[in-house]
Amino acid sequence: MLRFTALAEVQKKQPVEVAERGRASELFACNVFHEEAMRQRMTCEAFESVMASIRKGCKIDRHVADQVATAMRDWAISRGATHYTHWFQPLTGGTAEKHDAFFEPIAGNRAIEQFSGSQLVQQESDASSFPNGGIRNTFEARGYTAWDPSSPPFVYGSVLCIPTIFIAYTGEALDNKTPLLKALTAVDKAATEVARYFDPTVESVANTLGCEQEYFLIDKTLMATRPDLLITGRTLLGHEAAKGQQLEDHYLGAIPSRVLAYMRDLEQECLMVGIPVKTRHNEVAPSQFEVAPIFTEANLAVDQNALLMHLMRKVAERHGFAVLFHEKPFAGVNGSGKHNNWSLVTNTGVNLLSPGKTPSNNLQFLTFFLCTIKAVHRYEPLLRASIASATNDYRLGANEAPPAIVSVFIGALLTQVLDGLQQAQGKDFIQKNKDELRLNVVGKIPDLFLDTTDRNRTSPFAFTGNKFEFRAVGSNANCGKPMMVLNTMVAKQLTDFKREVDALLKVGNKKVKKEDAILKVLQGYAQSIKPILFEGDGYSKAWEEEAKARGLSNHKTTPDALKENISEKAIALFTEMQVLSPVELHARYDIALEEYIKTVQIEARVLGDIARNHIVPTAVRYQNILIENVRGLKEIFGEHFQEVAFEQLDLIEHISEHIKGIHSKVSEMVEARKRINKLADLEAKAQAYCQEIKPFFEQIRRHCDKLELMVDDELWTMTKYRELLF
Ligand code: ADP
Ligand code: MG
Repeated sequence: MLRFTALAEVQKKQPVEVAERGRASELFACNVFHEEAMRQRMTCEAFESVMASIRKGCKIDRHVADQVATAMRDWAISRGATHYTHWFQPLTGGTAEKHDAFFEPIAGNRAIEQFSGSQLVQQESDASSFPNGGIRNTFEARGYTAWDPSSPPFVYGSVLCIPTIFIAYTGEALDNKTPLLKALTAVDKAATEVARYFDPTVESVANTLGCEQEYFLIDKTLMATRPDLLITGRTLLGHEAAKGQQLEDHYLGAIPSRVLAYMRDLEQECLMVGIPVKTRHNEVAPSQFEVAPIFTEANLAVDQNALLMHLMRKVAERHGFAVLFHEKPFAGVNGSGKHNNWSLVTNTGVNLLSPGKTPSNNLQFLTFFLCTIKAVHRYEPLLRASIASATNDYRLGANEAPPAIVSVFIGALLTQVLDGLQQAQGKDFIQKNKDELRLNVVGKIPDLFLDTTDRNRTSPFAFTGNKFEFRAVGSNANCGKPMMVLNTMVAKQLTDFKREVDALLKVGNKKVKKEDAILKVLQGYAQSIKPILFEGDGYSKAWEEEAKARGLSNHKTTPDALKENISEKAIALFTEMQVLSPVELHARYDIALEEYIKTVQIEARVLGDIARNHIVPTAVRYQNILIENVRGLKEIFGEHFQEVAFEQLDLIEHISEHIKGIHSKVSEMVEARKRINKLADLEAKAQAYCQEIKPFFEQIRRHCDKLELMVDDELWTMTKYRELLF
């Protein structure tokens, strides 16, 4: 049987030997066409032009583009590239590429290596098979990819990868990167203006992002015995192992040697393409791990995370592993997330979420701190929607994952600071000896509070010393989506903040000091954000009720959560911040619904097949053995056989019940699908899949898992949890 051959094979596997390719400092970014590589290979004119485009978004003109392309091609060939590709992130998640050779035949049976400016800058893409939510008519499936100079090209294998955006000819974005870039522009503009209250020399503000990627590593041979894992990325059935993660002995434990070899190999690959991976460790669940690069500018960090996931899959093949990015591959143990560590940094190098030593630095800190929290409060349903997916639904609110209610955790010390800020009442506050008060209230954030923030794992959005950590993001997500939403809402809030402060500065005849105006607005914020602040247990029933009383949303399912994306409030926000148009929002909504429907539909099919074709036949086989046994006992014991065969008879009966249960539930599910598939309205269809189909999963699984416990282990075909995870 495949299961046992696979298990025997796994026993024999040794760590794959990994060649040391050089010191990290030498390897790092050796395959990236970064600033230094450009400077070395380009004319002054071309270099300046690209830098202007990176820093200020200036257009690169045609003949300069040719020079850049030539330099890039020569560099890429020197790094072993034979092909190039426009590398982009379509709305399916993941990354897409289409390789073209540099090779170009010329007269006389000769060939040259060619790569022109226009091939670099823009490409037409026959992308009719990418989801577009009806933006592009399939008859006119023309979209194009355009170079994003702010993310450097890199060579992976023999291919020069050029990060690009992907848009329809009609101008709508068909990817995750385009709106992210717009959101980053919006937050840059808004944050720069606010930062100038404190330092007039600030020219720009960038969003920094560090993504912690969690994942499971499963042996590939074992994986081949599990059609559910292969097709859906998660186990649709399987009884929990006797030993799960109760002992927490995996977390930060010694890394198994095959896994260590994998990680070493992966790290070298990452370094070469410029991903600064730094930490690696075991996670809480058995066979679960995490890799985290050092944070960088958000657009690059998002690209790097997409590339990292790609590399993780590739390197896993070499080591006989399969990487699972699914948010909940196994019931009963932790799922995987992708904590998005988010902050803002000025071009002068100041982290705007880092509490400073002086009162004025702390006023700046409080400004950005409170504006971020206020943005989250105002637009929490959108933040929830930004991480909604069929797969993340299984994780949210279970085993250490944050719940579907968005709240902000700031820790005891900052709670005190905010209380202090509020207690200093309005007029007194402005009229009294200001410097002293300011020192008292704003200046008193003690240095030591860095790192003392509690680790409340159930909080979806937590302040962790000098950054916010958005923890509800799923491990399989493209971070571009949640980061686009978060930056857009923070941009909006900072814009409004500036308006409020400026209005106070202008009011009446009395001269109001800038600091006082800022403080006054912040005091209001410290009061109004209270409903979103929560320090307690996010899993408790009491919190659900309280959150409701506080007016917070609690969308437990993806179809419910997604609806927020086309609310009036959402459309107003994304339009005002010029990030997504109403057409784009609706298109994205449709795409997300379709993806949801397909995911649940596929799971339903696979579960039905496995239950009927694997589980039931195995159960019948075992039942026949039991029947044979009972027959024998009857022969020997005659009348009294029932006493000796009591256990067997009981099992035979139970097995029949479960087989019957599987058959009836699978049939009901198939019928329900047929009916639902006829629904033309996407929203109704997604809701129906969610409300009517998904409940069958648990019911069918229960019968299967019960059978797993009854049936002779020797006969069971599906690799069991304890074998997959240990
Ligand atoms: P933990 O698991 O304790 O949350 P890790 O060290 O695994 O911490 O991950 C923290 C992540 O936060 C890293 O990717 C790190 O680079 C990132 N980070 C640190 N400072 C910032 C910052 N200012 N902006 C964005 N990300 C940051
Ligand atoms: Mg973390």
